[in-house]
Amino acid sequence: MRILVTGGAGFIGSHLCERLLKEGNEVIALDNFFTGRRENIAHLFDNRQFELIRHDVTEPILLEVDQIYNLACPASPIHYQYNPVKTVKTSVMGAINMLGMAKRVKARIFQASTSEVYGDPLVHPQTEDYFGNVNSIGLRSCYDEGKRVAETLFMDYHRQNGVDTRIVRIFNTYGPKMMQNDGRVVSNFIVQALRGEDLTIYGTGEQTRSFCYIDDLVEGFIRLMNTEADDIHLPVNIGNPGEFTMNELAHEVAKAVGRDIKITHLPLPQDDPKQRQPNIERAKNLLGWSPTIPLDAGLQKTVAYFAERMKA
Ligand code: NAD
Ligand code: UDP
Repeated sequence: MRILVTGGAGFIGSHLCERLLKEGNEVIALDNFFTGRRENIAHLFDNRQFELIRHDVTEPILLEVDQIYNLACPASPIHYQYNPVKTVKTSVMGAINMLGMAKRVKARIFQASTSEVYGDPLVHPQTEDYFGNVNSIGLRSCYDEGKRVAETLFMDYHRQNGVDTRIVRIFNTYGPKMMQNDGRVVSNFIVQALRGEDLTIYGTGEQTRSFCYIDDLVEGFIRLMNTEADDIHLPVNIGNPGEFTMNELAHEVAKAVGRDIKITHLPLPQDDPKQRQPNIERAKNLLGWSPTIPLDAGLQKTVAYFAERMKA
């Protein structure tokens, strides 16, 4: 198959491109390099099945492909809040442009949605039928609401135009190829620990997240994209239900790095969700998927990656 990956030079996109090429597909990565980098995919440039296009998903484009994975969107709060209006445009106009292309060329299309559609959840763990608790006017809204509208567009293009859609709600994912300055908690803690700096815990550190290793996530993507079922167009949570406070995560990172760590507390950002854990029954039943890599093993691999990069 010929497969388009928007956001293909980013953290998740670059892993996905690698996996799709390994399976013998032709892959086109499309990226505007806002938070992605050529380096993440440079090792694929010699592969004749791989192409890279510099393009912004807020502008229309037409490519003859069989499948589209729409991942283009900054994912870290510091990056998506840098230009919030652009973040909304990327999610909303990006979805419209990619869905329009999917309709025209009859491609199956997959949306990288997020657990942020649940906002600061009042239901725990979160199931796909929970409508969420999102602030529409806060600093995180450009991302959360942009992703919610993208889900709406995916469902409406499916119902109105018969486009063959998939929606995954991704919970916090980590692994090699995150940028050192990504700003999300796992890469921040690892980089700080390796540099011998204090780990920055926002607020009390008692808020929770559930962390999925990248390889498990990509496996879930491929299964969802290639499964047929009556309700396959409805969202599916993909994440690791192992739930940790940020204080616990700091200690897990200390163990993985093999050093004592010091901690500095910084103010909790506005609207920071207090807890988050996926209910993954739907992914288990529909896709036969569940995560295989626990946090300690995933952190070991991620620490090894950053240690190598920071030597260079
Ligand atoms: P990332 O920031 O590493 O990757 C995003 C990629 O999209 C980058 O390469 C960036 O340059 C590109 N991009 C941004 N705006 C673009 C635009 N307008 N046109 C073209 N390319 C553009 O983030 P990631 O962690 O790899 O996330 C990938 C996708 O998964 C995003 O849609 C994100 O919202 C979603 N997601 C990720 C997580 C996670 O924990 N990593 C959780 C939930 C959802
Ligand atoms: N966080 C933290 N220190 C950091 C970065 C983040 O304590 O250096 C906290 C943040 O306040 C949040 C959690 O870690 O409660 C996860 O943050 P991240 O930005 O990784 O993801 P998100 O909040 O989007 O789930």
